[in-house]
Amino acid sequence: MDKIWGQAREELQKIVGADSFATWIEPLRLSGVNEGTAVILCPTRFLSDWVSRHYSDDILKVLDRIEGPVHRISFETRSQTSRQVAAANSEPKRPAPRAAADDELTAPLDQRFTFDNFVVGKPNELAHAAARRVAEGGPVTFNPLFLYGGVGLGKTHLMHAMAREIQARQPEAKVLYLSAEQFMYRFVQALRDRTVMDFKELFRTVSVLMVDDVQFIAGKDSTQEEFFHTFNTLVDQGKQIIISADRAPGEIKDMEERIKSRLQCGLVVDLHPTDYELRLGILQSKTDTFRTQYPGLQLAPGVLEFLAHRITSNVRVLEGALQRLFAFASLMGREITLDMTQECLADILRANDRKVSIEEIQRKVAEHYNIRLSDMIGPKRVRTVARPRQIAMYLAKQMTSRSLPEIGRRFGGRDHTTIMHGVRKIEELRSADRSLAEDIDLLRRLLEA
Ligand code: ADP
Ligand code: MG
Repeated sequence: MDKIWGQAREELQKIVGADSFATWIEPLRLSGVNEGTAVILCPTRFLSDWVSRHYSDDILKVLDRIEGPVHRISFETRSQTSRQVAAANSEPKRPAPRAAADDELTAPLDQRFTFDNFVVGKPNELAHAAARRVAEGGPVTFNPLFLYGGVGLGKTHLMHAMAREIQARQPEAKVLYLSAEQFMYRFVQALRDRTVMDFKELFRTVSVLMVDDVQFIAGKDSTQEEFFHTFNTLVDQGKQIIISADRAPGEIKDMEERIKSRLQCGLVVDLHPTDYELRLGILQSKTDTFRTQYPGLQLAPGVLEFLAHRITSNVRVLEGALQRLFAFASLMGREITLDMTQECLADILRANDRKVSIEEIQRKVAEHYNIRLSDMIGPKRVRTVARPRQIAMYLAKQMTSRSLPEIGRRFGGRDHTTIMHGVRKIEELRSADRSLAEDIDLLRRLLEA
């Protein structure tokens, strides 16, 4: 077995790359192959979950080639209570859907996407309140409900939570949740199989229709047309429609005007980009969940704050980072410290380093102190202009990777010694003047957001 596994490991390393290999494959052992099932030993439950979701196809393929035939992989953890089996070509494991509407039609709901698990903060409170209101039912007030926002901000989460809640409150209601892509796929299939009448019939019998990522059907003319008719029929019958998209209805390109305007006639709410407090709240809530998964894991103070501060792209990335960190710490049997965080998440942190330009800094600072942008590069020496200019120099030095001469050029061709003097001056004042320090922090946060 060791020899087979040794060979398999070599191939796997080539497929998954050295880093993933070290984190995920290295700790595994092959304990045997029996009637086409390979048994793999994993040190933790988390690892086996992760590997079965992400690497089981690769492992299967490699083992089948070396030791074939291998059709299945069975993961065992040392403290095995239940054995998990990943069948060949199995989909990533998803919880079984409730028989909400037609099983064939509705997409599976993710168990984790509930209202209880949704952390509410300023940026998403309106969307959350609207989602709750619609899910709680009563007389239809917002129809359609149109939720929009950037990627990874919780649209799908809210949609699933609503579907679940509606179904729980009205077990007899036919709730249909699907992505716009699935809608199109089914429609095209019906065209091909000449079952369009059945397709129409099916959609028109639902009580609640939820279509996720509706921007997908932009530019797909006959799907749009069909969607429009379905939409109108349901609205006319007083059925609830819930739509999500990555942008506002009016901003979806290649979408017919009449559809856009119908999409807007209910309630349109957006999920704003996360702010620091919301990110921290989400991290805390996820950490609570992880703690039950990894009892005894130590988390140094300041780590979550650091992550909330530095990973600003979206919640999915934030979650992924935390998950990797916990997995890593548990594999290494180490406490999660700031150092470890920086090392383990170097790639994510780098990608999230927002590039701020000197022009943006100048603009923000000028705005904040109510001076003209041209004064940033101009010669005026009065304090009310010179001080903000120095603050902008200081921030440029701190927040960009530009050299002093480069910064000098952008401040109207000043000499690098002038920039250095400005930076020093602000450093000095900063430690003496509380309100100046606060101003600078505020500006920095505005620029990082
Ligand atoms: P979208 O559909 O807007 O791209 P998702 O709903 O798929 O985003 O969210 C991405 C991930 O972030 C999911 O795992 C989701 O559970 C999580 N998430 C997003 N917002 C929140 C929130 N406010 N509270 C808890 N988890 C969230
Ligand atoms: Mg989504």
